[in-house]
Amino acid sequence: MQTYDFIIVGSGSAGSVVAGRLSASGRFSVLVLEAGGTDQRFYVQMPLGYGKTFFDPAVNWNYKAEPDPGLGGNADHWPRGKLLGGSSSINAMVFIRGAREDFDAWASAGNPGWSYDDLLPAFKALEDNEAGADQWRGTGGPLHVTDCSRAVHPLTKRYLAAGEQAGLPFNPDFNGASQEGVGVYQITTKNGRRMSAARAFLRPAMKRGNVRVETKALATRILFEGKRAVGVEYEQNGEKKTARAGREVILSGGSINSPQLLQLSGVGPAALLGDLGISVVHANGNVGANLQDHVGINYTFKGKLPTLNQTLRPWWGKLLVGMQYILTRSGPLSLSMNNAGGFFRTDPSMTRPNMQLYFQAFSTVIPKSGERPILTPDPWPGFSIGLSNCRPSSRGEVMIRSNNPRDYPRITANAYSTNADVDEMLAAVKFVRKIAAMPAMAEIIEEEVLPGPSIRSDADLIQDFRKRSGTVYHPVSTCRMGPDAARAVVDPRLRVHGLEGLRVIDASIFPDNITGNTNAASILTGWRGADLVLEDHK
Ligand SMILES: Cc1cc2nc3c(=O)[nH]c(=O)nc-3n(C[C@H](O)[C@H](O)[C@H](O)COP(=O)(O)OP(=O)(O)OC[C@H]3O[C@@H](n4cnc5c(N)ncnc54)[C@H](O)[C@@H]3O)c2cc1C
Repeated sequence: MQTYDFIIVGSGSAGSVVAGRLSASGRFSVLVLEAGGTDQRFYVQMPLGYGKTFFDPAVNWNYKAEPDPGLGGNADHWPRGKLLGGSSSINAMVFIRGAREDFDAWASAGNPGWSYDDLLPAFKALEDNEAGADQWRGTGGPLHVTDCSRAVHPLTKRYLAAGEQAGLPFNPDFNGASQEGVGVYQITTKNGRRMSAARAFLRPAMKRGNVRVETKALATRILFEGKRAVGVEYEQNGEKKTARAGREVILSGGSINSPQLLQLSGVGPAALLGDLGISVVHANGNVGANLQDHVGINYTFKGKLPTLNQTLRPWWGKLLVGMQYILTRSGPLSLSMNNAGGFFRTDPSMTRPNMQLYFQAFSTVIPKSGERPILTPDPWPGFSIGLSNCRPSSRGEVMIRSNNPRDYPRITANAYSTNADVDEMLAAVKFVRKIAAMPAMAEIIEEEVLPGPSIRSDADLIQDFRKRSGTVYHPVSTCRMGPDAARAVVDPRLRVHGLEGLRVIDASIFPDNITGNTNAASILTGWRGADLVLEDHK
């Protein structure tokens, strides 16, 4: 059995950063176990290829949540990346840090070192922002962030103008002074290729020689001696293997898999583990509990002007954008479908935004089996204004159903299970219609396709968003951080309460969800987590 200083389970947004920074210190040997395979695939590297990876079992865990009464009984598709880079290799690349108040709330919940001012130097150091450095933004870091303001579809201007007509300010940088307003999204790409955490952090580390990355290696159990984690059991090519950790085991499997692996290893709700015949190493009912996620919905319109549908759908259009991409690494294939967006308050008495907007200059109302039809949009000139909640109060859980590591855990989202979440979404969809009714948009709208003009009453609007909403892929908090073991899984240094030699470093540790997309905060968690590990192993 081989011994490494550290074993990291998962090479995703956070795991790649931890591996990269531990390796850069030059002081340790590191083993990374990744259940998936390589990220050297065309549809992973090409930014808009995420329409293809959305259901592709070769790179995606393809989870299904339990049928959710809050979503009209739908069992939602929950994609998660299963390859080098994890979900950062299949995500929509929108780069949003979250709000200052989110992190300040994490710190004031008893987690020193996690306030926005504490984290700002790390946020700046990890990025290489094409728009340049300022008081809030950084250049020269490993993660390139592209400024898309000149590349977005011309219709984006209409959306921005309509947002301003509806009362929102134009916001030049959602990661700057304030989040509120409408603006163009920055994305994690470089020279027209996806900038996953693997590309930014892991691949440079793999060249150093002190990091061993095992792909197609599914961690099945953490090995304990008493209360100390000493290694990991994993399966690779049908073989059972073990590796020993001289210093620590670090779980970076993400918000579904980290609690799953803890539970499989005897760390979790005692009654559940007992029922499944798993010996309890350490009982903690918070493992897998407190699941928080953002849910969202699109309002889709048929326009009077051409949209990306006319470019991407016909064979000759595909040929043109394909040539443009291959020859110049530019054009629609080099971007996210979310060209622009914004943040707004559903109630002016709130102190900060509680809703996020997405503008997509194309539409995919007509489904295509096994694919998110991003590359084959609707035949008519469609576009969508999407939105998602930022800090919903609904809570779910992730719990294993058996002691077999290959059985997917049960994901219970409980979307819209509080009145507050329903009320704010109702106000929010009305605001989307307000944007669409502003002159800059109304002039170019032929008709509202979804949900359509017949859906007007509050009851119908609620029924519609329950039926059509879904995850926007930001699950967090299933191994939440906090000083009190009765309410959390890891302490503020990300060490699992009650155990030794074991940390969790990924999105599952967020004490609460953030206002916006979760990749940047996951990468940040990896960065800060690595700092904590390095401090504790001088
Ligand atoms: C379709 C989609 C679109 C998204 N769009 C955006 C966006 O536009 N902007 C944004 O900011 N965020 C977006 N997100 C969310 C963001 O990507 C995630 O929040 C973030 O990547 C989570 O990072 P993580 O490190 O916690 O987990 P992940 O990046 O998911 O990494 C976990 C890794 O661990 C591996 N693993 C898990 N279990 C095991 C095991 N037992 N053994 C070995 N390996 C294991 C997995 O295969 C995976 O590689 C999106 C996510 C998805 C899925």
